[in-house]
Amino acid sequence: MKRVTLFGATGSVGQSAIDLIARDLDAYDVVALTGGRNLVQLATDAVRLRADLAVTCYPECYDALKQLLAGTGVAVAAGPDAIAEAAARPVDWALSAIIGAAGLVPGLVALEHGTTLALANKESLVTAGPLLMAKAQSHGATVLPVDSEHSAVFQALVGEDMAAVERVIITASGGAFRDWPVAKLAKATLAEASCHPNWNMGQRITIDSASMFNKGMELIETKEFFGVDPDMIEVLVHRESLIHALVGFNDGALMAHVGPPDMRHAIGYALHWPDRRALPVERLDLAKIGALTFEAPDQSRYPALALAQRVMQTGGLAGAVFNAAKERALDGFIAGQIGFMDMSRIVEATLDTMTASAGLQNVPITLDTVLQTDRLARIRAAEAISQLG
Ligand code: NDP
Ligand code: MG
Repeated sequence: MKRVTLFGATGSVGQSAIDLIARDLDAYDVVALTGGRNLVQLATDAVRLRADLAVTCYPECYDALKQLLAGTGVAVAAGPDAIAEAAARPVDWALSAIIGAAGLVPGLVALEHGTTLALANKESLVTAGPLLMAKAQSHGATVLPVDSEHSAVFQALVGEDMAAVERVIITASGGAFRDWPVAKLAKATLAEASCHPNWNMGQRITIDSASMFNKGMELIETKEFFGVDPDMIEVLVHRESLIHALVGFNDGALMAHVGPPDMRHAIGYALHWPDRRALPVERLDLAKIGALTFEAPDQSRYPALALAQRVMQTGGLAGAVFNAAKERALDGFIAGQIGFMDMSRIVEATLDTMTASAGLQNVPITLDTVLQTDRLARIRAAEAISQLG
């Protein structure tokens, strides 16, 4: 039996993982499930999956979760420390699918215990990629990508020599506003930004797809995960979201990964790795699909891409600033404080201020420096938001 823990079990990625695990429950020993405010889902899944422990990240939700699980035999805990403690429980495989920078600590703790970490939480790599990858290496632990583009690159690289890789191309659907006139984007509403043309995902990542902050994060994620030079990584707009990534080799070959836009593919690949097992996802009929299209991204529509390039070139703690400022700007957009195009202005202003004052390159990347930078960047981003207003 494979012992597994799912961080962020109640979210969009977490629920896709539960769908796979619930189909073959006898093959898994579910140790812990973690969630946030969605307590009914957390409790229902903990019982259904016969988990030992259910944890909510909110201490004030402890009593309600305890009540929901009374008499079921599932232990209950609450708060960020309880999530970190759950990460220390021995398992073979853990899914990191918390949203935001809160996913970093449980991932680091899991790696310290030698757990194979299936990483959906891209913020971990953006804020602290060198720390996370070094932690894995020093504890002999494996990190597997779950973000669909990175899973695609990972699969295209099986049996290949990294020295023969010339470029890595990650694709982007273009998000909700790909056909809007650029001039209209400043007026985009929350509801309009929250609809993805191809993928069914959580609200925050859906808005990040419309702005391409998600793709910017994925550029940095590619650099950190695969250790490739920023100049080798490209973004290609591909409306159909069927090719998730391509790897270009020094003999001119491009290896493309084609699959349905269903996160259960990437999660299932990481769950069964290094094997490939049957998964309950759609089989594509390419003759029916007929044509696949590709376009270069329009930089004026997606300023987040140039900001991500800048972050990759700067390195060091620039990723922690980028992620925190982006999260704060996104909070501001969701709360109606700022407009859609203001998000990239806030991130740029925060990068400017913090690059000038803190020197982001020459500080060692430790958990302390990352968390400190994250906190400061949120304050600077909030200041930039109030200056806009
Ligand atoms: P969701 O918002 O759907 O789910 C997030 C999960 O994290 C929920 O379980 C939520 O609990 C929990 N959570 C929220 N805040 C905290 C916190 N502060 N501490 C601990 N747990 C918390 O996100 P997604 O599933 O969409 O995304 C998860 C991660 O995967 C993100 O990093 C995202 O970028 C990445 N990703 C997502 C993809 C997708 O298809 N959705 C694709 C590729 C990557 P609750 O809901 O109970 O409050
Ligand atoms: Mg992705």
